[in-house]
Amino acid sequence: MGPDVMKTDVFIVGGGPAGLATGIAIRQRGMRVMVADSAKPPIDKACGEGLMPQTVAALKGLGVTMGPSQAVPFRGIRFIGEGRVAEGAFPHDYGLGIRRTTLHQALADRAAEVGVEPLWGSRVKRILEGEVWLDSYKVQARWIIGADGQNSRVREWAGLDRGLPQETRFGFRQHFRLAPWTDFVEVYWGRNCQIVVTPVTPHEVCLVVTSRSPQIRLKEALTQFPEISRRLDGRQAITKDLGAISALRIIRKVSRGPFALVGDASGSVDSLTGEGLGLAFQQATALSEALASDDLAHYDAAHRRINRPPEIMSRILLAMEKRAWLRRRAIDALAKEPHLFERLLAVHAGTFSPRTLGFGNIFKLGWRLITSPN
Ligand SMILES: Cc1cc2nc3c(=O)[nH]c(=O)nc-3n(C[C@H](O)[C@H](O)[C@H](O)COP(=O)(O)OP(=O)(O)OC[C@H]3O[C@@H](n4cnc5c(N)ncnc54)[C@H](O)[C@@H]3O)c2cc1C
Repeated sequence: MGPDVMKTDVFIVGGGPAGLATGIAIRQRGMRVMVADSAKPPIDKACGEGLMPQTVAALKGLGVTMGPSQAVPFRGIRFIGEGRVAEGAFPHDYGLGIRRTTLHQALADRAAEVGVEPLWGSRVKRILEGEVWLDSYKVQARWIIGADGQNSRVREWAGLDRGLPQETRFGFRQHFRLAPWTDFVEVYWGRNCQIVVTPVTPHEVCLVVTSRSPQIRLKEALTQFPEISRRLDGRQAITKDLGAISALRIIRKVSRGPFALVGDASGSVDSLTGEGLGLAFQQATALSEALASDDLAHYDAAHRRINRPPEIMSRILLAMEKRAWLRRRAIDALAKEPHLFERLLAVHAGTFSPRTLGFGNIFKLGWRLITSPN
């Protein structure tokens, strides 16, 4: 006897943040939706655990809100490196630091509340002629969404281009039990790595080291940043070392026939932008709108629009990461022009259009980059 067959409007492969957000957005438009993931909530993953203000807003739009015991607000970004410090506050709203597992559980709870049908602990093995094959049954779906992360199989099964990873780096994450010392997310720029420190609960901070080497771990990286070691004051990490790949991968076509991709499956940006989750949540809403109007071409266009600014920001940050002289000059210039840093964050956050930076400001920043002392 063949496997049992079920039916749904939309089937989502992958119940990470992108898959769950997409499931919620689709349910909000009244369609029937199933989400399958080989793991079970709360699913953990190496992440900086910082949600930018626009990410928090997108989450709110999905009906996901966090209480003060679940997340910690931060009001801007601080760059520390090359003997310089520059910081920019967000113009209106705040970002949120949140443990990845807390975020995932909140999304899973909201998905259950709006009627997403979860298939936890279920691996999708293949997709054939509109039918999704799981272990002991098949599901027929009108639309099939790949939210299965960077190495998406759905992308392959749909015959969509995987794009070229333009820059690949490695990130490792650990948590430490101590009260956050600042309400900024701090980015420490070192010789061959960066450490991002995010307050995630009133008693915990998350540290992520990113570099081009899969060998560089937090312990070793900390030797470049005595100011962080001083704060940690000999404390041991309370979570184990969890690693993931941080890739700038640009994919221009993200739908084909009944298939669409969302989240990291549809391309990714460098983790230093702190934008991966925000992209996934914005794409989720755009995709649900396109499905409701039965036109995935709209989603392709919206996806390009949503991804473009963080792709540009990735290139800027990666250029700083590669060149000490540029890093020095950029941090120096931003330290001297804090309003410009704030404007840049606002453009990055989508609150202002790049035009609001103004020719004068761009000229000023460029001039400082050229003329700052080495
Ligand atoms: C080091 C690092 C730091 C980062 N820091 C930040 C940050 O501070 N802020 C931010 O916004 N973003 C950050 N990001 C980016 C963010 O983590 C990703 O963009 C996000 O995880 C993408 O979510 P996703 O759901 O698309 O993919 P994933 O989280 O990878 O989820 C994919 C899911 O699909 C499931 N799956 C895969 N194949 C199958 C299958 N065949 N059947 C069933 N299930 C399957 C997997 O089990 C998994 O749960 C960071 C990334 C890295 C690497």
